Amino acid sequence: MATAVYPGSFDPVTKGHLDIIERAASLVDELVVAVLKNNAKTPLFSEEERVKMIKDVTGHIPNVRVESFSGLSVEFAKQCGAKFIVRGLRAVTDFEYELQMAQTNRSLCPEVDTLFFATDLNYAYISSTITKEIGSYGGDISGFVPEQLVDQVYEKIASRQRNESRQTGK
Ligand code: ADP
Repeated sequence: MATAVYPGSFDPVTKGHLDIIERAASLVDELVVAVLKNNAKTPLFSEEERVKMIKDVTGHIPNVRVESFSGLSVEFAKQCGAKFIVRGLRAVTDFEYELQMAQTNRSLCPEVDTLFFATDLNYAYISSTITKEIGSYGGDISGFVPEQLVDQVYEKIASRQRNESRQTGK
């Protein structure tokens, strides 16, 4: 049985992520989407919220499981009995970092290989960061995140903006 782990921040999950999830899931027996807990930057959504959002948009794919993890992706992949780590490549700017990560992971754990998916051109410009940026200025994010998450993303951004302005007294 071939299991793959797709690790990431997914803050929030985007249409680009979902495309990779669908394509990767069609190639393996089980795909574990793994939400990283210990982000360096403070995420907009809590780990529980990010897991729930991914579950909400992947319900139609039977061989997808969503988990959260902390620590090294490669260790989590080993724990899951996974042969592969899945990553998406949007542009050459992703390439250098992703290649370094894949080589590092391979030296740490040669039995887990990295599978790269070239991003669908329709989603190549999408990132979680740009989604939050556009949303924070009230721009249209319906092309960026799956439809059922659009309101939730706007609400979360608005609630963070309210908290920030309360703190700064503006
Ligand atoms: P990380 O913080 O680990 O980069 P992300 O949630 O930003 O987590 O991304 C997880 C993975 O999904 C990475 O491999 C990233 O390149 C890929 N990815 C991000 N956005 C897209 C997209 N629009 N299309 C395809 N892959 C993407």
